[in-house]
Amino acid sequence: MTWKQNLPRTVLITGASAGIGEACARKFAAAGCKLILTGRRRERLEALAQELPTSCLVLCFDIRNEEDTLRELSDLPAGFAEVDVLVNNAGLALGLDRIPAGNPSHWQQMIDTNISGMIYATRAVLPGMVQRGRGHLIQLGSVAGTYPYPGGAVYAGTKAFVHQHALGMRSDLIGTPIRVTSIEPGAVETEFALVRFEGDKSRADAVYHGFRPLNGADIAESIFWAATAPAHVNINVLEIMPVAQAFGGFAFDRR
Ligand code: NAP
Repeated sequence: MTWKQNLPRTVLITGASAGIGEACARKFAAAGCKLILTGRRRERLEALAQELPTSCLVLCFDIRNEEDTLRELSDLPAGFAEVDVLVNNAGLALGLDRIPAGNPSHWQQMIDTNISGMIYATRAVLPGMVQRGRGHLIQLGSVAGTYPYPGGAVYAGTKAFVHQHALGMRSDLIGTPIRVTSIEPGAVETEFALVRFEGDKSRADAVYHGFRPLNGADIAESIFWAATAPAHVNINVLEIMPVAQAFGGFAFDRR
């Protein structure tokens, strides 16, 4: 019964049009939370909002745009203005080239989305949380933020930022009841690989071929658990991988 006593009333999910964000929307909606769903693909978000058994507000904007993000999330309509949980989930990886051959516009997009966009969303909702004495920031990091892999240097860097930023905010928010959690998944089968390989479906499918990856619902369960823990409990960092994923060790140049 504890989770019911700690159920948030209003949950804001960035990047709710697909994958982990969409799965979070389904999970929190099934428990009766009101939802604010954001992303760039309006049709997707509206179809999801129609389907969910709860009250939803759809907001379409590009999280890389500081002005739009602050405007949309700072001035929420009555009934949605008191955000209890921000699932700071919108994010992406682009490309898998090793750094000398990497694409600088890919790097910039990852930095602008995974770091800047996340900070803009936090900036918009955190002051209200502090004022109300109630709130939880849940950030989507990645195992890539801790364990590097070839071709992931910029993506991994953005996720290392997410991890350290979450811990830093815990330091800054001591003395308030605001909670901060970094959720750090391994391989989750979503649109992530399709986006990374810019629509190349066979390359994306190959990422998940031959083993059982996590799915969005697996991660949503963990996010829901962290969000509904008793108010005095803060889950700092949660690392979650498929059983079929592990570590490959160091590389050596033996020429
Ligand atoms: P996904 O299926 O591709 O979903 C990504 C979501 O982010 C979409 O809803 C997308 O919405 C939104 N988004 C991307 N760029 C945006 C922008 N500029 N403005 C607004 N929204 C934007 O990927 P996912 O796997 O669910 O990823 C969710 C989070 O989990 C990301 O932060 C990712 O880095 C992290 N993660 C994923 C994995 C994995 O293996 N899948 C592992 C570790 C961490 P629109 O396209 O509609 O804007």
